Amino acid sequence: MLRTRPLQLVPLALLVALQRCLAARPLLVFLIDGFRYDYLDDLQALPGFRALVERGVKVEYMTPDFPSLSYPNYYTLMTGRHCNSHQMTGNYMWDQSSQKEFLIGTNDDSRLPLWWDGSEPLWVTLQKLGKKVFMYYWPGCEVEILGVRPAFCEEYIYNPTEENLSESITRALDVLRSGRADMAAVYYEKVDVEGHHFGPDSQQIRSTVQQLDVVMQMFNRKMKELNMEEQLNVLLFSDHGMTKIQWMEKVIELDKFIPMEDILKMMDRGAVVSLWPKSNKYQEVHAALSRVPNMHVYGQQEVPERFHYRGGRFVSPLTLVADPGWFISENKAKLPFWKNGSESSGWQNGWHGYDNELVDMRGFFLAAGPDFKQHVQAAPIRAVDVYNLMCWTLGVKPLPNNGSWSRVEDLLRSSGGPVERGSCWTCCIAPCFSRENSGRLVLEEPPD
Ligand SMILES: [Zn+2]
Repeated sequence: MLRTRPLQLVPLALLVALQRCLAARPLLVFLIDGFRYDYLDDLQALPGFRALVERGVKVEYMTPDFPSLSYPNYYTLMTGRHCNSHQMTGNYMWDQSSQKEFLIGTNDDSRLPLWWDGSEPLWVTLQKLGKKVFMYYWPGCEVEILGVRPAFCEEYIYNPTEENLSESITRALDVLRSGRADMAAVYYEKVDVEGHHFGPDSQQIRSTVQQLDVVMQMFNRKMKELNMEEQLNVLLFSDHGMTKIQWMEKVIELDKFIPMEDILKMMDRGAVVSLWPKSNKYQEVHAALSRVPNMHVYGQQEVPERFHYRGGRFVSPLTLVADPGWFISENKAKLPFWKNGSESSGWQNGWHGYDNELVDMRGFFLAAGPDFKQHVQAAPIRAVDVYNLMCWTLGVKPLPNNGSWSRVEDLLRSSGGPVERGSCWTCCIAPCFSRENSGRLVLEEPPD
């Protein structure tokens, strides 16, 4: 039963909160895969990014979650939870009980609810609240999560072009401006693809970032023309950074240390590898791999607590983590290598997935718009912190999460403090003001 009381008894903080709630603004987010924090160091050469930084806030860097891989961090960013809580613990996962595989989102089974229903991403929450989310190439937008899909999903394709990106921006601005969307989310992969192929310090990465900057210049022009700079909040961030690897030189070949027939299942290669040894071989395999240089082997309960990883539903009995620059594989022959005497397209000079505190794994974050301070360089944040900021700008109550409000509130022009936030979000998620027959506005208290 709902009890009511007259508006004049409502504390001032709640009235401020109501105002804030009604002023929730549309949001546009860009997820730029593999964009390392220092790719923005030479802002003079990047006028598109520079303009965004000048009218917004840029943090020194953003620490990703462990493992510093894409899918785990896509979900950390959209849930504010660590991997052991949202359950998306790898780009490659195996569910032993159902024998199903998740293969970097590309196989049909990767769309099964079991991988995605471990936590509710922001777009699902918004849709449940009756708000509309439009997503462009965002991995996972095609999946029904907890029974919900976004209002619009342009399905992920491998490595969308600059033209795809420009077109997505134009369409996103159109639906946000017309009020058909409350949030739009755009994904871009090329910086990661080129970073893997040529390495983070390559000329190719510099020119890829410059091509992206040209699109950002177009975006800035459109925002001005449409008079949206003070209407729309814009967030740009990445999922992780990138480090240089010496392909074929620093390779840890597992079959040199253990008989591979002792392994029931192996998922992924590179910085982090998941192993399911045959049950009677666990101790032997663990002991043998403990002596391998340039990597760590962890039993499930031995994974460092700071990784917030080991409690995950799909975490394997053994997790191998390579030292920076090293690459774990069954053997070199299983890696893409020279084909017919020339470099194959699988040649790699950059990788990520390593310890998330490694400097090279750091991503970037910047934000601009009516809710954000201007021309501010801010202290580092973590991937789990972004979710609360997005909820704030959209005026929705965040679900329980691992983000820290104190790390992000200084980015906002007015953060209002916890009372205002709490009240606002309560009223947004379940409107708590209604009109009596007399027309008087009353506050409904939550049911007993
Ligand atoms: Zn990558």
